[in-house]
Amino acid sequence: MLLTIDKLSKKYKDHVAVKELTLSIEHNQCVALLGPNGSGKTTTLSMLSGLLTPTSGKIVFQGGTTINRHEIGFLPQYPAFFSWMTATEYLHFAGKLSNLSKKELQKKSNEMLYFVGLEDAKNKRIGGFSGGMKQRLGLAQAMLHDPKLLILDEPVSALDPSGRRDVLQMMMELKKKMAILFSTHVLHDAEQVCDHIVMLKEGTVKWAGSLDDLRKRNTEETFILSTEEKLEDWLKSKQYIKEFILTSQTSAELKL
Ligand code: ADP
Repeated sequence: MLLTIDKLSKKYKDHVAVKELTLSIEHNQCVALLGPNGSGKTTTLSMLSGLLTPTSGKIVFQGGTTINRHEIGFLPQYPAFFSWMTATEYLHFAGKLSNLSKKELQKKSNEMLYFVGLEDAKNKRIGGFSGGMKQRLGLAQAMLHDPKLLILDEPVSALDPSGRRDVLQMMMELKKKMAILFSTHVLHDAEQVCDHIVMLKEGTVKWAGSLDDLRKRNTEETFILSTEEKLEDWLKSKQYIKEFILTSQTSAELKL
């Protein structure tokens, strides 16, 4: 097992944001943390990435109780980019924090910019980047040091359909190389990329299992459980997805 979380809890003063959360991730497994706003996704991922200290519970990473920062890649929900930096300068800046040598940094940042499709923009300033380009740069930063686990907090939520498609496709490529834990409030995003889903509600796991198990369940029930939205909203979102697929150039690759 790559990562095991046992009864992890986080309290903000009197408010319990995450309550006795238990889950595990195997090497090269892709797990989606699915839940509505306020269900505890960011709090959970922040504890795993070391930004927040748990109130109680245990995190075991590769058999040890300390998470080696260099083996985790983290993309926060709102990454802080410096708009005056070029994409390459940003990766070199981020890479220094990961203790990579100058030579390694040069090689890895070129490789990663190529992987995320920003090779042509590598000497352009981040200030002129679209949301999708910024998110792809964020992915490049998170992967720079070849982590074993990639933690992505709502990586596609703020993106338009084309940015969303690009980043989801990139995640599908990445999951062949490393384990991914990502949060989303959209079931369709989780379905596309991951084989395992953990549904959070009010800080606790309401359901966890494989995508196949999820498909066997009543769709309406599952959706309401995961997002607390009404069926009409669900149908609207499906309509939106259909429109998105029709306008997408790679529609054949994105099946509903
Ligand atoms: P999600 O990522 O699923 O939207 P969060 O982890 O951000 O959920 O929040 C879980 C709960 O904790 C929410 O009720 C939120 O209001 C609360 N919360 C999050 N951050 C803080 C904070 N810094 N101080 C107090 N309460 C917080």
